[in-house]
Amino acid sequence: MSLNIDEATLKSVVEDVLKKLGQQAAAAPAKGSDCGCSKSSSKGRDGVFQDAGEAAEAASHAQKQLRKLGIAGRAKIVNIVKRTCAEKAEEWGKLEFEETKIGRLEHKVAKLAGIPGVPGVEWLAPRGMSGDHGITMEENTPFGVVGGITPVTHSIPTISCNIVSMVAAGNGVVFNAHPGGARCAAEAIRHYNRLFKAEVGIENLVTIIEKPTLESFESLCKSPHVDILCVTGGPGVVKAAMASGKRAICAGPGNPPVVVDESANLAKAARDIILGGAFDNNLLCVGEKQIFVLDKIYGAFLQAFKDAGAVQINDAQLAKLTEAAFTYKKDGGGCSHPVLNRDLVGADATRLAEVAGASCSASTQLLFAETDADHPFVMEEQMMPMVPVVRVRDIEEAIELARVSEHGYKHSSMIHSLNVEHMGMMARALDSTVFVKNGSCLAGLGTGGEGYSSFSIATTTGEGITTPDTFTRRRRCVMVDNLQMY
Ligand code: NAD
Repeated sequence: MSLNIDEATLKSVVEDVLKKLGQQAAAAPAKGSDCGCSKSSSKGRDGVFQDAGEAAEAASHAQKQLRKLGIAGRAKIVNIVKRTCAEKAEEWGKLEFEETKIGRLEHKVAKLAGIPGVPGVEWLAPRGMSGDHGITMEENTPFGVVGGITPVTHSIPTISCNIVSMVAAGNGVVFNAHPGGARCAAEAIRHYNRLFKAEVGIENLVTIIEKPTLESFESLCKSPHVDILCVTGGPGVVKAAMASGKRAICAGPGNPPVVVDESANLAKAARDIILGGAFDNNLLCVGEKQIFVLDKIYGAFLQAFKDAGAVQINDAQLAKLTEAAFTYKKDGGGCSHPVLNRDLVGADATRLAEVAGASCSASTQLLFAETDADHPFVMEEQMMPMVPVVRVRDIEEAIELARVSEHGYKHSSMIHSLNVEHMGMMARALDSTVFVKNGSCLAGLGTGGEGYSSFSIATTTGEGITTPDTFTRRRRCVMVDNLQMY
């Protein structure tokens, strides 16, 4: 059979068919693209992404670029972060303070100004071995991409400190910040990425999810582009990270106790406790949260505390403040437990005094109250500048109550004493990651004591104060029976 069609008709039929095919092609998803049933691609800009999977993938791609730039490339990134924190401490401190509305502006600034002290690439030391069977070198190599979960208490400082440690180790990073500090965190990430692009030629080495949620956290936990997690936060996020199936470095909660014994220099102990406990309105996880004072020097310590500027609130005022600071909730077994209300977290001492119905001068940094050892202010991590003082019989009771109040977090503790036996007893009983003798908690992070600083102290999982080393895999390179030089 043959069709008798003239050329004009044939052309018109072909055009018609091509047009229809074109319309179908436009309606159908491209091969390999999203089928249209899931969310659309957002692709980030300057490291800020809507989608967690895309943020992780971009960081993974950038990390491969970083590898090509060697240690020198990492050092450049680290120096950019340190330089920027020093330059922008005031501006970013203000930005974070205005967004989170917790803590104290001057301390937000001080935290950022301290980032240059965080160890960088110089921290990584390979270990060499040489013997009759050749030579072996153990090197610290990157994991790939670290999923960083950061707290509202120090949003930009934790992100900046994490970038220094994680990138010095050769990793890319994707952050899920606390929603309460996510805007300033994204602003810092944007700024860093612009500098990284301009000065190092890498885009999206550190990324962030603009609107972090529990779902974006879960996406990071499931992402094949995230090799390890580093969470800095309270018990909830530590539990979630540990259950995620990914390896997690957990910088968990603390509730640091302080013991003051009869040999202590009481005036100095009082000053140190105010310095640490009032810093950023007691938002620091290492900050002094409850004090156990031996009976023999109890009265003298309270006087020294007042002389140093701490203001005492009475029982009725404490009751009022406790009611505002905690809500009692029943657990599954019907027992009632105090749960911290967030409204007073990081509030000024003057505001706490107002809530308590007490009066104090505008310059007051720290309140205190005499309490029993099981008071909510002792047992809960209050994160506000009101510290309870508990009278104890002797050093054994002081250390035991300190241990119980720390809940086995193994985070931080302090003692003011000249008795090394007491120091040893407390060190062994609490087993805390940071243990400061005769100084403020800040000395534990290199301010007023020897050592370096970090905003992620891996207590729960035991890595300790995180450094670039924490974010590396140790790998062994072995040359058999050769290359030794003797
Ligand atoms: P938080 O636990 O409320 O939040 C921390 C981070 O975890 C945030 O990004 C938050 O969005 C996320 N998160 C919380 N619950 C989660 C869950 N169930 N699943 C997934 N993500 C979750 O803590 P915060 O108020 O931001 O910070 C204060 C807490 O962090 C305190 O307990 C403090 O001791 C601790 N902290 C520890 C360190 C350390 O180095 N160990 C440093 C800073 C803060």
